[in-house]
Amino acid sequence: MSEAKILDRVLVTNDDGIHAPGLKVLEHVAAGLAHEVWTVAPEVNHSGAGHSLTIKRPLRCHEVSDRRYAVDGTPTDCVLLALQWLVPGPVDLVLSGVNRGGNLGEDVTYSGTVAAAMEATLLDVPAIAMSQCFRGGHPVKWAAAERHTPAVVRKLRAAGWPKGVLMNVNFPDRVANAVQGLQVVRQGRAKLGDHIIERVDPRGEPYVWIGGLKHDDGADAGTDRGAVRRGFIAVTPIHLDMTHHAELARLVSILE
Ligand code: MN
Repeated sequence: MSEAKILDRVLVTNDDGIHAPGLKVLEHVAAGLAHEVWTVAPEVNHSGAGHSLTIKRPLRCHEVSDRRYAVDGTPTDCVLLALQWLVPGPVDLVLSGVNRGGNLGEDVTYSGTVAAAMEATLLDVPAIAMSQCFRGGHPVKWAAAERHTPAVVRKLRAAGWPKGVLMNVNFPDRVANAVQGLQVVRQGRAKLGDHIIERVDPRGEPYVWIGGLKHDDGADAGTDRGAVRRGFIAVTPIHLDMTHHAELARLVSILE
């Protein structure tokens, strides 16, 4: 039994690259939700690219197969080219992911997955970033994202959200049947790079490598990290207006 399609045209993108398994998951899910699915994704992995835009060199875009394109640029480049140039006609929704690994807490500021959704949002196209949490050294449980993405997209689409806001969705590191449900939560704390590894290379030259999290304080209920830790799908609305409005008001009263 398949449910009715709720979208005319969807753009799928990611930051892990055109060959990434999570992209195939999302394309498969999108085909059940939309009449027409377009994929425009980076040729190679751009995880950690953030919202970078390529402006100092030309970009090459090649058709991989019908309605599937690879760009030798960033996730942001892919969305910009897709929405402004490549895809004929309006796009109802941009789906970015499914990323290999969570985009929790401050990850959203480094994430190419979230940045692709940001770019769509800046172009007034609603967007959802999707990421599958996993533990290093263990297989990625793609079936969790695959099973639950359709319902998440349908629910979010029905609820709607304002312009200037994107949805950041993280699936927990659980098998599909063990996912507890969905929680709408705030962005937690998950600062990468606390762990700097200092070594010496085989030629005797020193190098440093920015490692993962050293401190793990993110089990708070009410945060994205806390939700996925407890086995829930975390949904966080992200606002692209970075103005801190309370602080703006306070400063106006003091400074003006
Ligand atoms: Mn990635």
